[in-house]
Amino acid sequence: MKIMVKAPAKINLTLDVLHKRTDGYHEVEMIMTTVDLADRIELEPLPKDEIKIISHNRFVPDDSRNLAYQAARLLKEKYSIRSGVAISIEKIIPVAAGLAGGSSDAAATLKGLNQLWDLGLSLDELAEIGSKIGSDVSFCVYGGTALARGRGEKVKRLPAPPNCWVVLAKPTIGVSTAEVYKNLKIDGIRHPNTEAMIHAIETKDYDKMCSHLGNVLESVTLRTYPEVAQIKEQMERFGADAVLMSGSGPTVFGLMQHDSRMNRVYNGLRGFCDQVYAVRLLGEGNPID
Ligand code: ATP
Repeated sequence: MKIMVKAPAKINLTLDVLHKRTDGYHEVEMIMTTVDLADRIELEPLPKDEIKIISHNRFVPDDSRNLAYQAARLLKEKYSIRSGVAISIEKIIPVAAGLAGGSSDAAATLKGLNQLWDLGLSLDELAEIGSKIGSDVSFCVYGGTALARGRGEKVKRLPAPPNCWVVLAKPTIGVSTAEVYKNLKIDGIRHPNTEAMIHAIETKDYDKMCSHLGNVLESVTLRTYPEVAQIKEQMERFGADAVLMSGSGPTVFGLMQHDSRMNRVYNGLRGFCDQVYAVRLLGEGNPID
């Protein structure tokens, strides 16, 4: 029996950093939502007791550094599973892009193995296990739209935002999330209004959602990588309704409601950037079990 699971990318509608904690992590508050750009994970049982990662992308590790590997190892250890699994990752989401590709692969692996190994775990239990792998894994287990707090592992689900087009553009640089957080100066940053964004989502107010996009990490990444700032400017010039960097970058996304604008932004950006995608918001996540 083979199991296929989709692992969608996320974008940040908001990303705020409240303070640095005594354990070295930053206390964050962010609203994330999944988009229709997804890796495909295939899980196949192996007779031998091993975890095998199959990926044809040179930027994706095929050993225990892979977050999908870590997901399988955690479940194997916790539930004393003696059989093995081959995890094939068809990588569609750009790597080290601020789109949580690795975290989503880990979450999809948790959900798929829950089925394959008949563990009967709830989404809450899978999210709790996921938080041990990385801060964004819990959110990715639920998918859809949510407010994430703490290190990102405290997830409160939100309704679907007003639907729209999302054009994603990733410059060829990769950004290290750890470096960006290290260079963030919290004093004097402009915080996004998270409450106002939640209200915009709940009332399905597209214009308000656009006006409340905000990401404090832009202050670091845009300064370090001028090409990210340039892509933001281009997206605005081609007519996106609102533009923001996702996560720690370097991917920039633009929102638009009308097909004609989406086409203009998409075609315009392709002249500047190799990796450009036009996708929809997924809106709803996994049903609550
Ligand atoms: P986030 O938005 O959560 O910070 P990201 O989109 O910036 O994540 P990823 O694509 O998850 O970053 O990759 C970051 C690094 O993680 C990569 O450089 C890679 O070495 C490692 N990695 C581990 N597992 C995976 C995976 N399944 N897919 C992609 N990268 C992975």
